[in-house]
Amino acid sequence: MVCTSCGCLVGVNDDRCYNCGRRNPGLWGYATIVRRLGSDLGFVPFVIGLNVIMYVLTLIGSQGNIGMGGMMSMLAPNTTSLLLFGASGAVPVFLLDRWWTVLSAAWLHGGLLHIFFNM
Ligand SMILES: [Zn+2]
Repeated sequence: MVCTSCGCLVGVNDDRCYNCGRRNPGLWGYATIVRRLGSDLGFVPFVIGLNVIMYVLTLIGSQGNIGMGGMMSMLAPNTTSLLLFGASGAVPVFLLDRWWTVLSAAWLHGGLLHIFFNM
């Protein structure tokens, strides 16, 4: 096996890596799969991928009513689509009782420039 921390060869059942000292470096035989995910365990590609998917879905949900006026609103999903996918603010949270939008809004982007700088 390859140690998940340093990449040196270790035994599947070794208690410690002889090179870096990591405990259970072989991860019961799953170290190779874990290393393929990268040092962030696949978190960054997951977040970027989900953000892009959500952005495309909000554009599709806009049903052709996509903002094209100027740099700030270039390829902007419309408000109805953003609300449908969980846009947050005082109205959704306090008037519509959609408390969960404080979590879902992080996955939404209001235009091409917005998602570009977030990525
Ligand atoms: Zn190691």
